[in-house]
Amino acid sequence: MGKRIEGKEIAKTYRENIKSLIEEKVSKGIRRPSMVAVLVGNDGGSISYMKNQQKLSESLGVKYTSIVLDESITEEELIKNINELNEDTNVDGIILQLPLPKQFDEKKVTSSISYKKDIDGLTDVNIGLLYKGDKCFIPCTAKSVIEIIKFVEPNIEGKKAVVIGRSNIVGKPAAQLLLNENATVTICHSRTKNLKDVCKEADILVAAMGRPGFVTKDFVKEGAVVIDVGTTMVEGKIKGDVVYDEVIDIASHLTPVPGGVGAMTTTMLIKNTCEAWEKNVR
Ligand code: NAP
Repeated sequence: MGKRIEGKEIAKTYRENIKSLIEEKVSKGIRRPSMVAVLVGNDGGSISYMKNQQKLSESLGVKYTSIVLDESITEEELIKNINELNEDTNVDGIILQLPLPKQFDEKKVTSSISYKKDIDGLTDVNIGLLYKGDKCFIPCTAKSVIEIIKFVEPNIEGKKAVVIGRSNIVGKPAAQLLLNENATVTICHSRTKNLKDVCKEADILVAAMGRPGFVTKDFVKEGAVVIDVGTTMVEGKIKGDVVYDEVIDIASHLTPVPGGVGAMTTTMLIKNTCEAWEKNVR
């Protein structure tokens, strides 16, 4: 029987470290870290995500400001707002809540965020730096995945890792992070042949597909570390990509859904904010 990885427990260690780092600097007269969230329109998912961000930020001593803009704003005005935040020396991190209403060019608006404040790791500069293996802001879900893996498997080097999913926000950065840790990485997607056989080779298996219950025990090598990123609503409940009850018998470690990767992401966002803040107040 493998071990259940509690995302909340791992996040707790990061939170304690973040809190004490902030209090130490504040006691020396340095201002608190500051994050600004920008929302266009009134997407329900984004609003509840922002509430969580605010609650956790404030509990750790990070100043959190939300800017809610009407959907009727033009793209030019939105970018002007972001540029003002880019230039504000009291703002360390900017997060643009996605998805934007469909009249906006999401790539163009995201690219207008200064890469130095891009705590979601979505600008071309941060993506490029990640692929070069340089220090950068990493998308929070992918960052959660690698931090969880490192927590349970400190020796990633030379391990066979398989990532199912190749999105820019999860699959590709997670695979790149594993490669940067010297794993031998295979990225799978909807056109991959013999997916089950490829996965069965993996010492580390990351499922980021959004296909609830797709990964059964037949995909998993004995003793593998399995990270389930999938979150799909099924009959009012969040389901992962992995069949937990089967795979826990085979894997060495497995993240539950909910309570695994998702329990880490907001903490990683705040960690990114603190990294930006440390550079700004140095
Ligand atoms: P996405 O953009 O839809 O990408 C899904 C990926 O899975 C694609 O690369 C797709 O392949 C691949 N895929 C789909 N069906 C497949 C199949 N039958 N066989 C092999 N590959 C298949 O999704 P995403 O944004 O990366 O998110 C992935 C999952 O993670 C979703 O459930 C999402 O809700 C969840 N998520 C969770 C968190 C969290 O905090 N826990 C955060 C973000 C996302 P193709 O490229 O060939 O289409």
